Amino acid sequence: MFLEGKRALVTGSTSGIGLAIARALAAEGAEIVLNGFGDEAEIAKLCDELGATHSGADLTDAAQIETMMAAAGDIDILVNNAGVQHVSPVEDFPVDKWNLIIALNLTAAFHTTRLAVPGMKKKGWGRIINTASAHSKIASPFKSAYNASKHGIAGFTKTIALELAEHGITANCVSPGYVWTPLIEGQIPDTMKARGLTRDEVINDVLLVKQATKKFVQPEEIGALATFLCRDEAQNVNGANWSIDGGWTAE
Ligand code: NAD
Repeated sequence: MFLEGKRALVTGSTSGIGLAIARALAAEGAEIVLNGFGDEAEIAKLCDELGATHSGADLTDAAQIETMMAAAGDIDILVNNAGVQHVSPVEDFPVDKWNLIIALNLTAAFHTTRLAVPGMKKKGWGRIINTASAHSKIASPFKSAYNASKHGIAGFTKTIALELAEHGITANCVSPGYVWTPLIEGQIPDTMKARGLTRDEVINDVLLVKQATKKFVQPEEIGALATFLCRDEAQNVNGANWSIDGGWTAE
């Protein structure tokens, strides 16, 4: 268990990809701080299962992020994963949705990072892993805010990778293609509307058509990749943007 003695904060880890990353890091002995919304009893069960603590901070609010980070103490592994999506033509894109997506998918990672870095520098070791997306490299229509936020986090990650490289801290993105989680399920009705398609057409002709494997990525696969990035053997993997998208962005 190579992560014994390390503390990992995984944002947006009450569901989907974040939860799979938290489980994978916990399996290697990391002490986990969960974050995200959800049913209280379910979250209490997750805390029991993982021996974790939980912060319900709303990461669109800088003050709540500061409170969460102060309570979490020194973090060795920071996984910026919380994110939301909204699908709409740009001219109808609700302004509040744009602001929410940029605040959560991009600005929150700036706040957690600036607050975690001093502790990592003190220890001379740290891992920052940002869940970006295939949409940090390429675009799809009707996802203007999401694509902007994900291209933004990719640029942010490269910048901090350069700044922190000599302190034993690495920063990388993991960039999944389509992973079957509540985030994907939630965008199907809007995609049906925006593109005039049925549910099956959205799944087969919009989502899976992109992935050469014709399979959804499994959250556990992203957990395994994130765990690898925490290994000492990954100390020179820095500023990378790892695709895990079945070959989508190879095209
Ligand atoms: P999900 O909906 O299953 O989980 C999102 C998590 O974020 C939940 O824990 C939720 O409670 C939390 N969250 C939402 N709003 C929050 C807020 N304001 N403050 C704090 N936490 C909040 O989604 P997912 O599919 O697991 O997505 C996780 C990340 O992976 C996102 O950044 C997403 O963009 C990215 N991603 C997902 C896919 C996919 O196909 N599912 C593909 C590429 C990238």
